[in-house]
Amino acid sequence: MATIAFIGLGNMGGPMAANLVKAGHKVTAFDLVEASRNQAKADGAAIAESASVAVKGADVVVTMLPAGKHVLGVWGEVVPAMAKGALIIDSSTIDVESARQAHALAAKHGVLSVDAPVSGGTGGAKGATLTFMCGGEESAFAAAKPVLEKMGKKIVHCGGAGAGQAAKICNNMILGISMIAVSEAFALGEKLGLSHQALFDVASTSSGQCWSLTTYCPVPGPVPTSPANNDYKPGFASALMVKDLTLAQDAAKAAGAATPLGKHAQEIYQSFDAAGQGGVDFSGIIKHVRGLAGK
Ligand code: NAD
Repeated sequence: MATIAFIGLGNMGGPMAANLVKAGHKVTAFDLVEASRNQAKADGAAIAESASVAVKGADVVVTMLPAGKHVLGVWGEVVPAMAKGALIIDSSTIDVESARQAHALAAKHGVLSVDAPVSGGTGGAKGATLTFMCGGEESAFAAAKPVLEKMGKKIVHCGGAGAGQAAKICNNMILGISMIAVSEAFALGEKLGLSHQALFDVASTSSGQCWSLTTYCPVPGPVPTSPANNDYKPGFASALMVKDLTLAQDAAKAAGAATPLGKHAQEIYQSFDAAGQGGVDFSGIIKHVRGLAGK
């Protein structure tokens, strides 16, 4: 079993670190927030007084932080303190450019590195059923895979440095756009006197079928487990969808790709967020879509 340092014990990182402990790894953890450190301690991790202390002697370091600037800050602190040939994995969702800078820093210090953002939300983090999308050298991926398998059920090597982040933002751009498309269809169906169930029964077995409809249906009823049945409690908060759609737009601009629907989806989620709905599940966008009627 490996000696693992885990930095960033929030909604996702906390349960992910707990799963590594459950799998029998020796985990030393650090977070800036005391309550998160206490929870990790209760889950069986040792607590370090700083990130650079946590990584001393670690075979593997995992970071799960809010954004690119946090990752570059923490990696700048911990990578020089790591042993040569050790492995660092970042599972945060961050911009591709920062991910590539982080890989370059690790390479400079002789440390293996993988960007491995996740899909599956807090439920997946707790249940160890996350999907990991990985970028990095083959040898780094091979070293990361057995560790990631203790926190997830599907581990995909997408390519070189930053490829995991690229896959993540492309996937979430599809998700943001498709949730708006499904919401518009239900809002139109309502105006046309169509029941939610009738539209669901047709579209879920026709060419309109997609995850936003069949797993995460934005109206209550047809899919009992979707957040619409629970007053749109997240799930995946709209503020995080704004973050991911903004990362996609930044990447599209930098790479010179045309993403007109991605841009429009970003604007729609931004106005939902600006209306104080950032904490609402992203499928709650249907309320915003209905409110646009006649405008
Ligand atoms: P979170 O805000 O709950 O947790 C982030 C943690 O990082 C916090 O506990 C914070 O104190 C800690 N932190 C920040 N700077 C630090 C530092 N310098 N040193 C140590 N700890 C530090 O966020 P989260 O929901 O756990 O998400 C983490 C990442 O995963 C984000 O990039 C997010 O976009 C991504 N993500 C989240 C979800 C989700 O459903 N929550 C799903 C997929 C991906």
